[in-house]
Amino acid sequence: MNSRLLDEFRAVVGERGLISSAEELHTYECDGLTNFRVMPQAVLLPTTTEQVQGIVRACQRERIPFVARGSGTGLSGGALPVENGIVISLARMNRILEVDFENARVLVEPGVINLDVTGRVAPKQFFYAPDPSSQSVCSIGGNVAENSGGAHCLKYGFTTTHVLGLEVVLPDGSLVHLGGKALETPGYDLTGVFVGSEGTLGIATKVILRVVKRPECIRTLLAAFPSTNEAGAAVSDIIAAGMLPAAIEMMDNLAIQAAEAAVHANYPDCGGLLLVELDGPTAEVEALMEEVGAISRKNGAWEIRVAQTEAERAVVWKGRKAAFAAMGRISPNYIVQDGVIPRTALPRVMDEIARLSKETGLRVANVFHAGDGNLHPLVLYDRRIAGQEAAAEALSMRILELCLEAGGSITGEHGVGEEKKRMMPKMFSEPDLDTMQRVRCAFDPGQLANPTKVFPTPRLCGEKPGEYVPHPLEASGIAERF
Ligand SMILES: Cc1cc2nc3c(=O)[nH]c(=O)nc-3n(C[C@H](O)[C@H](O)[C@H](O)COP(=O)(O)OP(=O)(O)OC[C@H]3O[C@@H](n4cnc5c(N)ncnc54)[C@H](O)[C@@H]3O)c2cc1C
Repeated sequence: MNSRLLDEFRAVVGERGLISSAEELHTYECDGLTNFRVMPQAVLLPTTTEQVQGIVRACQRERIPFVARGSGTGLSGGALPVENGIVISLARMNRILEVDFENARVLVEPGVINLDVTGRVAPKQFFYAPDPSSQSVCSIGGNVAENSGGAHCLKYGFTTTHVLGLEVVLPDGSLVHLGGKALETPGYDLTGVFVGSEGTLGIATKVILRVVKRPECIRTLLAAFPSTNEAGAAVSDIIAAGMLPAAIEMMDNLAIQAAEAAVHANYPDCGGLLLVELDGPTAEVEALMEEVGAISRKNGAWEIRVAQTEAERAVVWKGRKAAFAAMGRISPNYIVQDGVIPRTALPRVMDEIARLSKETGLRVANVFHAGDGNLHPLVLYDRRIAGQEAAAEALSMRILELCLEAGGSITGEHGVGEEKKRMMPKMFSEPDLDTMQRVRCAFDPGQLANPTKVFPTPRLCGEKPGEYVPHPLEASGIAERF
């Protein structure tokens, strides 16, 4: 990057806000998906919205692509730098600006850590519901961009349900406000469009969040089944009984082994472990817990425990939340996959994953948000063995195809990013992709915001396949193509 531009960036963010030395840039060459790496030209760490605007305007003028970054825990390569581009890290914009308990609203900067929002409102018995397992390190800006989920999203909804408004720096440097503190605003739901857009529509610089009152009673049950098939049948029966648990999570034996090795959660050694959490008024929770226990026993659970204290409950969740990172205990390398299937397809898909695992000789551990049908198969491999990484990648993509064949999706919460863009045409038709591309072009006609992500074959804005035919409005001079 030329020194004139570096000087300009330095003038915007100050000496401490610019990283340009090769050794420091290495920290930013990947996100949580470490098998993709690109060195950025520079990393900028703004502290204000105006600084973000200043950086983006310079990028627009010089046609430099930029990638927003929160905490870099993404698992699909969303924050992976792009060739000849810069990274804009929002980590230093980490203030909770306003807490409005009466209206249950919190205004935050994008670099605020997810769990810190709950930490701030907990004294008044509120919490921020979307709880990715990475919640102690991931940022609200990253959560917004990925529409992140978590164990409690079954009942409370994903990030999109809890983001009411946004301040966004568009890719031309202008500032817009989408949504607001009220639940509904007129016009297009552009907040909804932005949430889940993976950094391709601009940079969120402020976020209005909805927080939720803590329920009177929370109970967590742990049930051990012979296999994930019986556990899956219990999940279907619980939902069919009309209950909406706060969370239903499942782990297979390999995932249990890893979690036990890492955090000693005292899980039973079984083929399929179910964690069911109910919350609400005490009388209701206790009655429903009896019913969950009965349904579990009917489906073959041989051990059922209900956490008796808050400390016991915390240990149960610690095991589940540590499950991804715990894979390092049982395998040198692993790929965390993220796909969705209809709940009823669970036994069929699990059997097929087991068959593919046997066929390829690669172990697959399974941890999932069972209530949502959101699978997280972890494909274990050893990079030092020639060919294993490629085989693991191929297997993880084949698992996504299985999800599609079952009527599901290629991602439940980790996003498309770099990793899954080639899967997009398998899930969406050409007109679907074209429509998404037009939305992107409306926000970012110059395609500078996280270009090369999400879409398999980037097209220039305004470009359509085939011979160019001007629209009649364009031909008559009423509308202009941008
Ligand atoms: C151990 C582990 C467990 C995880 N568990 C879960 C889970 O349970 N559920 C889940 O959903 N995810 C989970 N994740 C994935 C990851 O933590 C989430 O995707 C998280 O939201 C990423 O936040 P981040 O701050 O790290 O974002 P980053 O990784 O830095 O960025 C993610 C995306 O957001 C964009 N972005 C970041 N900030 C902004 C901004 N201010 N404006 C616009 N775009 C922005 C980036 O360009 C990128 O595309 C897990 C990851 C790990 C490592």
